[in-house]
Amino acid sequence: MAQEDVFKKIVSHCKEYGFVFPSSDIYDGLAAVYDYGQNGVELKNNIKEYWWKSMVLLHENIVGIDSAIFMHPTIWKASGHVDAFNDPLIDNRDSKKRYRADNLIEDQIAKYDEKIDKEVAKARKRFGDAFDESQFRQTNARVMEYQQKRDALHERYTRAMQGPDLAELKQIIIDEEIVDPISGTKNWTDVRQFNLMFSTEMGASADGAMKVYLRPETAQGIFVNYLNVQKTGRMKVPFGIAQIGKAFRNEIVARQFIFRMREFEQMEMQFFVKPGTELDWFANWKQTRMKWHQTLGFGAENYRFHDHEKLAHYANAATDIEFRMPFGFKEVEGIHSRTNFDLSQHEKYCGKQIKYFDPQTNESYTPYVIETSIGVDRMFLSVMCHSYEEEKLDNGETRTVLHLPAALAPVKLAVLPLVKKDGLPEKAREIIDALKFHFNCQYDEKDTIGKRYRRQDAIGTPYCVTVDYDSLKDNTVTLRHRDTMAQERVNIADLNGIIEDKVSIASLLKQLQ
Ligand code: ATP
Repeated sequence: MAQEDVFKKIVSHCKEYGFVFPSSDIYDGLAAVYDYGQNGVELKNNIKEYWWKSMVLLHENIVGIDSAIFMHPTIWKASGHVDAFNDPLIDNRDSKKRYRADNLIEDQIAKYDEKIDKEVAKARKRFGDAFDESQFRQTNARVMEYQQKRDALHERYTRAMQGPDLAELKQIIIDEEIVDPISGTKNWTDVRQFNLMFSTEMGASADGAMKVYLRPETAQGIFVNYLNVQKTGRMKVPFGIAQIGKAFRNEIVARQFIFRMREFEQMEMQFFVKPGTELDWFANWKQTRMKWHQTLGFGAENYRFHDHEKLAHYANAATDIEFRMPFGFKEVEGIHSRTNFDLSQHEKYCGKQIKYFDPQTNESYTPYVIETSIGVDRMFLSVMCHSYEEEKLDNGETRTVLHLPAALAPVKLAVLPLVKKDGLPEKAREIIDALKFHFNCQYDEKDTIGKRYRRQDAIGTPYCVTVDYDSLKDNTVTLRHRDTMAQERVNIADLNGIIEDKVSIASLLKQLQ
């Protein structure tokens, strides 16, 4: 099945099984805004718990906060968002569609990469074991031509973005003959800058109202609380502050379901370090965060670092952790070495000292910062994309199953009485009543056992137990495993011992140690 079709299936599966709904669905939705349903919220909470505990539970020197969404508007002036949090947009006059100019050009660069990859794949097939990829890349005329064009375009684009030089961005689009994917024409408007922050007014009267912004990132809430936390928590550098919360961006092009939303959630951690040590900490956090991702068991080959060549003016290193989505490798998390830019800016704008006094060396300095910033929703999407499978069974049937990591699954155990009578429902409820304090259980008595198993497979429930007539006599049940569909007879009294450890967030956290 084409990857595009797989993605469509995942989107409709998310809706059908109560994971993600379009926001305001009965009013036909609101673009790029989504609601999480009864299963989605559980999965999302589990992702957040895994992240939160990996930060504040496993690190003595990291604490959490929960800052407000509304903040003093000068914060966004100081951070640079009022002046520079812009995307370059361009319209196509025929389709009336709006695009990000940078995305159009990046897609064009990716097309050259795809062409090169195709040539390499063809040659590998032709030459078999004797194939020397690097020699091929350096000598094949066609590949060299593509590579030259790609590099020239990349360099021109990087220069244009640095200004940014909007006229040059448009010229690149014209020179590369980039067409609108909908109208197929090159009838483009000029490129304009568009600020991504949503604003509203705070205050009762129109005259006295103050323009405030919905925060476009949670990080600034951490920076402006640096002194509060450092002092009240008696924190010693190096230390970190973690936060999970909503962020809002008026994205020009909302694409790919919950990958790019206008209201989304971030999990950010700012780690304050002594100047000069930041690049070591940057390397350290890169490894720590990659391990966090890979512990979910999705396969190391599905992740990669994308180190930034073009750095923001305040950063001295930056990388993205990318995950292989059905629509290609995409950023899920950013790790940035932000120097002392943010704290220094706030110091300048608020007029107060924001420093750290090191009692050991008796010096005072503005800490440098390593930031790890991950989108909850993108993480959710990567978990869904990797877990979804339409599995062909030996009997010719197909089952749709979510191979969710057990610790993230919304429901851990489904308890199914074989029939709705003769005391079996009561026995099933007894099991749930004993286990519901340990993990999420679900009771289901409707339809055949086979259909009930399929329903649980579709929401990723790792375990089902079936209560039958023997259960009444000998207190045993059939335990069925989601991935293998293997069944075993176990004592009811042993269920907690078998299941709890495997489905707990602690089981993941232990692997991080
Ligand atoms: P992109 O280049 O895709 O716009 P970004 O580099 O602007 O992302 P950051 O500002 O570094 O993103 O934000 C950190 C993380 O927040 C991203 O890695 C992503 O997981 C998440 N994120 C950012 N924008 C969105 C969005 N519109 N919808 C969902 N998640 C987002």
